[in-house]
Amino acid sequence: MAEITEKDVKSIDTYSVKCKSCGGTMVFNPEKQTLYCEHCGNEIDVQKDFDVKENDIKEGFAHAEMWDADEQATYRCGNCGAVVVVNRDEQASLCPFCGTSHIVKEGSFKGLKPQVVIPFQFGADRAGEFSKKWARRRLFAPRKFKKSLSPENMHGVYEPCFTFDSNTVSYYEGRVGEHRTRTVGSGDNKRTETYTVYYRIKGTIEHFFDDIFIATNANFAQEKFWKIQPFDTKKSCVYENKYLSGFVADRYQRDIKDCWEDAKKSMDKRIREFIRDRHNYDVVDYINVRTTHNDVKYKYVLVPVYMMNYRYKNKSYDVYVNGSTGKVGGKTPVSPLRIAIAVLLGAAAVVGLALLFLHSGFLD
Ligand SMILES: [Zn+2]
Ligand SMILES: [Zn+2]
Repeated sequence: MAEITEKDVKSIDTYSVKCKSCGGTMVFNPEKQTLYCEHCGNEIDVQKDFDVKENDIKEGFAHAEMWDADEQATYRCGNCGAVVVVNRDEQASLCPFCGTSHIVKEGSFKGLKPQVVIPFQFGADRAGEFSKKWARRRLFAPRKFKKSLSPENMHGVYEPCFTFDSNTVSYYEGRVGEHRTRTVGSGDNKRTETYTVYYRIKGTIEHFFDDIFIATNANFAQEKFWKIQPFDTKKSCVYENKYLSGFVADRYQRDIKDCWEDAKKSMDKRIREFIRDRHNYDVVDYINVRTTHNDVKYKYVLVPVYMMNYRYKNKSYDVYVNGSTGKVGGKTPVSPLRIAIAVLLGAAAVVGLALLFLHSGFLD
């Protein structure tokens, strides 16, 4: 984000949650689950609507227009007057000049609107503590990295996901094999050999899949999602922009059709595990699975993630914290000095143990 002057960029309206007493901006306070005015200290309860609905996937497909994520628009900050650039994949941002929270008004960009939000359950302070605890177990991480996991480097971002429900019926047929052993030869030549018996399988599996989460954005891709899942879906609320105030929120970069393809792959993998459990084979020649998806529902959900990026020797490392459970994921840089010390300590320990054994007569 930067200040720009070009007039040819579309300008859009943003929304700020205003304080009724002083007109300042109210931000969502995750610790208390309230809206808090940083200007006058006014605090109000957030009325939550937990009646989250599942939506028919056909309706999702019908509105799945995509946009060019590089395309930009601008808004004028009502607080400091700066003209701020937003990308199409930003749902909420903070004015880079004065820090005021801006939420993009609905209808400014095409595509689906968020339907569900899991609000942040704790502040950046606790995100910092969770990540420090996590880093303490990373023995080879440099001390500087561990120090950098402080609340001021933790950014709260609502990341977009699609969830899918599907009632599946799968027909499968295939050829699989089981390893067996037999004794062959006689006398001195008697030995055991392993052979494989192949047989045909077929059957039907019915399974209801609930809430398959598919991450949609490059900066919070599926691998990252797996590391800090599950999100506390019991905290899910009907989307309202007040939860976003004070945070950054992204819009989806991959559309619902692509994400549905991913969800089907993930279900197919699970169905193949069910088949394996049922037949208990050792090798697969082939298994064909034909799955029908019935009554498919989706939700467009914003999940809470604290993120920190750390640069170490020209490489960047991400740390991310599940904003509903405190689970931490990420990679830490490795300090060569710490490894060297560990190797020396390890060698010293081996020598020490050997001496101990010698002394006690254990190796005599
Ligand atoms: Zn106020
Ligand atoms: Zn501003």
